[in-house]
Amino acid sequence: MKVLITGGAGFIGSHLSHSFLKKGDEVTVIDNLITGNEKNIYDLLNNRLFKFYKEDILMFDFSRLLGFDLIYDLASPASPAVFEKMSLEILKVNSLGLFRLLDFFIESKSKRMIFASTSEVYGDPLEHPQKETYFGNVNSYGPRSCYDEGKRFAEAIIFSYIKKYKTDIRIARIFNTYGPYMNKADGRVISNFINQALDNRPLTVYGDGSQTRSCCYITDMIDGLLNLGALPGIEGEVVNIGNPEEKSILEIAKLIKGMTKSNSEIKFMSIGLDDPKKRRPDITKAKKILKWEPKISLVEGLEKTIDYFKNI
Ligand code: UDP
Repeated sequence: MKVLITGGAGFIGSHLSHSFLKKGDEVTVIDNLITGNEKNIYDLLNNRLFKFYKEDILMFDFSRLLGFDLIYDLASPASPAVFEKMSLEILKVNSLGLFRLLDFFIESKSKRMIFASTSEVYGDPLEHPQKETYFGNVNSYGPRSCYDEGKRFAEAIIFSYIKKYKTDIRIARIFNTYGPYMNKADGRVISNFINQALDNRPLTVYGDGSQTRSCCYITDMIDGLLNLGALPGIEGEVVNIGNPEEKSILEIAKLIKGMTKSNSEIKFMSIGLDDPKKRRPDITKAKKILKWEPKISLVEGLEKTIDYFKNI
């Protein structure tokens, strides 16, 4: 099978690239490395089944490529810590970049596409847990808008392409994900807390830490994304992929402090505007249509992630 992964050198994208290559598939990656890292795919660069273009999909000359069996679009910065600095890049890649990729998808007669959307389409949710049918509570004019509205617009673009071209595109609403090959410095909660704890620096809890997140270990996320790309009969479906094990940020800080046997103190800091107060996926639909549910508990996933950060 021939697979194209945009953003294939990022955290989730590089795991996906490795998975397809292990199965003997051909993988092409386009990634401008704005947040991805070539180190994530170093071991693949000499693989004859792997092709890497260090380019931006906004400028990429798609006429160089033939059609693919499967396209995964993961080309977007995704950490709230970069939303301010990369807001225009985020808006452009999820609109202009997506239009270019979709036009290539249609013209090249590629067969199927998976788009990486996000739990952020639910904003600061008033419905809990979040089902795919929830329309969200999103601020269109604030620090998270570039990502939240970027992905919402992207979903609207995809809906229109499906209607116009009767084509096979599926949307994954990806919830918080963590594990090895996360960027140590991208500002996300799990990587921040683990690295702060390992260095005995204060664990920076934003707000009072009562906001919740439900974190999915990377191998579970990859299994969900693979099923979404592999199964027949789910054209046009939008599906939450995440782990419903919900914890407050303060609980996660204490858990990581304990697991790393760290002397770090917990330091409460100011919280950004519109930071969602709670988040947990309803995965009823994923269980049903993807025949999937996460297997790795938070403690088990944290153990593996702590080991990874200890050894890099
Ligand atoms: N957070 C925190 N300390 C950090 C990083 C994040 O308390 O050093 C909080 C953040 O305010 C949010 C949650 O942890 O409530 C998850 O943040 P992250 O940036 O990982 O992703 P988000 O779920 O907000 O997209």
